[in-house]
Amino acid sequence: MAEFENQHAVISGGGSGIGLATARLLREGRARVTVLDLADSGAQEIGAAFHRADVSDAEAIDAIAEQLEAEHPPTILVTCAGVLQRTRTPEKLGLSEWDRMIAVHLRGTYACCRSFGGRMARRGAGSIVTIASVAGIGTGPLHGYGPAKAAIAHLSKGLAAEWGPSGVRVNCVAPGFTETPALDRGLDAGALDGGRLAAASALRRLVAPAEVAQAIAFLAGPRASAITGTVLPVDAGYLVAGDWSAYGGLRDIEGAPLGPLA
Ligand code: NAD
Repeated sequence: MAEFENQHAVISGGGSGIGLATARLLREGRARVTVLDLADSGAQEIGAAFHRADVSDAEAIDAIAEQLEAEHPPTILVTCAGVLQRTRTPEKLGLSEWDRMIAVHLRGTYACCRSFGGRMARRGAGSIVTIASVAGIGTGPLHGYGPAKAAIAHLSKGLAAEWGPSGVRVNCVAPGFTETPALDRGLDAGALDGGRLAAASALRRLVAPAEVAQAIAFLAGPRASAITGTVLPVDAGYLVAGDWSAYGGLRDIEGAPLGPLA
């Protein structure tokens, strides 16, 4: 039997990037997939149902959860909806952009977990994978995005304890720099340098959306049946490489310093 046969996965932000790659992978495993997104970039092409929704609109999310519960009760929730933040100084990062980071990521994740996870817990089974970031584990010039992502990891652990007795697992994936339309926009605008990002990771490359999707599918599915409350980086070794800058950075097999990538 296919791994996700008879499962119904709801994926916020499933219209693009990591969410779309996850939707595609779960569809390949024969899951029914429903995408919640501001825009349907590609979900319907892969046979997913689509609901236009802003994850920070808790009432709208709850209404969709109520409707899906009556039609095909969701058994998996993946919260991928998100927007990347400009790397501004605090003086230039205004409160409206900061509030938006908290609203889309933290409030949006909580709203989805509360509406879908609460119903799973009442039914006695389900699996949730939230999306944090390496930016919520280390620090960087992302004073809204980073704290929101750190809070998502923390929230996920709390919900794992809350709903574990009801048979619902909650795990969190923390991607590194992943080649999605969101990252492409930052590269195109010159705000990010692809060679520098790749060189900062132990594997000296960026992450593919399909690689993050594999980790999400693993945690969401039956192979991870005893795993809950974890935060799993999928970052090509970005987190382990960072501290090496104090010693001159990463080095090659002969011990010579590795320069930047083109
Ligand atoms: P993406 O832009 O390709 O996809 C994000 C999707 O979320 C889009 O379809 C967008 O329409 C949707 N979305 C945005 N705001 C929404 C809202 N308020 N309500 C509903 N949908 C909304 O981006 P991505 O890179 O695939 O990012 C997916 C997740 O992964 C985000 O949470 C992001 O923060 C996180 N992440 C990305 C990277 C990276 O390098 N790309 C790294 C770490 C974490």
